Amino acid sequence: QNICKPEGFVMDTYSDFDSVEALNRRVSKPLRKLIETKFFRTLKVDLYKPCEFWRTEGSCFQRDCIAQPLEDSEVPVIWQASTVDQNDFGPFLHRPEFTDKDFTIVNDESFGDGIWLDLVTNPERFTGYAGAGANAIWMSIYQHNCFGVQPYIQDTAGGWGSQLVNLDGKAMPFVKPPHNHRELVPFLVNLAEEERGITLPKDVPHEYRMFYRAVSGLHASTSTHICSDYFNATSGKWEPNLNCFISRIGAFPDRLQNIYFNYVLLTRAIQKMAPYIAKYDYKIGMPAEDKAVKQLVPRVLKEVNKAGLVFDDSELFLGPGGNALKGEFKDNFRNISRIMDCTGCEKCRLWGKTQTLGIGTALKALFSYKDKAFRKSFTAVDFKRNEIVALINTYFQFSRSIEAIETFRAMYQDLLTDQ
Ligand code: FAD
Repeated sequence: QNICKPEGFVMDTYSDFDSVEALNRRVSKPLRKLIETKFFRTLKVDLYKPCEFWRTEGSCFQRDCIAQPLEDSEVPVIWQASTVDQNDFGPFLHRPEFTDKDFTIVNDESFGDGIWLDLVTNPERFTGYAGAGANAIWMSIYQHNCFGVQPYIQDTAGGWGSQLVNLDGKAMPFVKPPHNHRELVPFLVNLAEEERGITLPKDVPHEYRMFYRAVSGLHASTSTHICSDYFNATSGKWEPNLNCFISRIGAFPDRLQNIYFNYVLLTRAIQKMAPYIAKYDYKIGMPAEDKAVKQLVPRVLKEVNKAGLVFDDSELFLGPGGNALKGEFKDNFRNISRIMDCTGCEKCRLWGKTQTLGIGTALKALFSYKDKAFRKSFTAVDFKRNEIVALINTYFQFSRSIEAIETFRAMYQDLLTDQ
């Protein structure tokens, strides 16, 4: 059995794993070129928002954890000119952090705080950030999936943020990890077991499952990048680490599957937004850059559109409780944006925030607008530049993960052949 090779259909979608991989082989090349353009590699992120949940003194300040900001001269003038200090508008004119349509906190690049960064020169990869601080983030996020289940922070020895202190200055209690992670969060138990075909809980709405899959897929994709771009301290080289991949993702079919789920979800959102993305004004006044984007956007959209119906979002959030459930879902997802501010490693925070915004943008396109909103007049459609940039970069991160899974699969096969 090849543990890195999922088979059949990605749960809750119309896509099988082979066709997702085939689509990715067609999309990945133009997508990579697209995210390397100035428009798509440049993003303003509010990296220093205070953590609302606990103190984050124990941060990782090692070289690989630091995000390198851009010099002012490297940021296209067109965006710098639009940057306005929110304080200029007085205390009563503060912009809301999100609108009713948003699934995340969307920091407008033209207003307020944030630093400009180059996403290509700050890739998501191994940084060494680990321990109770990192664990607390993931666990708090899963807690929000549970819609009411108690949080827990694993008692991990050492690492950044191993002395977590809440905002009142009190040490946060650790809960000893149970023998089995699944014992602790019963909601996850159902999901994980269901995915293995053991039990079929009847009362778990599809929408909750989607939430869990989105978060677990993001977590698994981050882990995949850590393992594929891993710093080997012995050889001093960055290289793929098969053991890391198998122990964190490959051995867990549901985690592997959730990477594909996110890819399918993002594909569907980009299909839906395609007319809007095609007509968006990407000009930054740099002719070579403007030309490249003009050529690459249609190439990516063409492949994405060719994929046909990959995921049916029309059946979700319907019925009498549909709207209330959507409201709860949005509140919980927006909380993930806030939890990301607690990540004690700059570069991890950069990617945590960017990908939360990317997935949130996909959810907003899927569940806050009808299809025709993107086909007709765009006046009622509100997506900011950073949402489009985050969406496309998040798509690329999942594309990278699927490529990495294929590489690890080949490495694993080689290992089996050699034995
Ligand atoms: P963790 O990955 O911390 O997971 C904690 C627990 O969650 C596991 O023990 C397991 O029970 C469960 N779990 C794990 N994966 C899944 C899944 N996919 N679905 C469901 N449950 C799961 N480190 C880097 O080196 N580079 C980065 O760029 C980076 N970015 C990060 C971004 C964020 C937002 C956070 C919170 C952390 C980031 N980290 C990064 C740290 C990294 O994600 C791990 O936390 C760290 O490597 C320690 O890993 P671990 O094996 O202890 O388990």
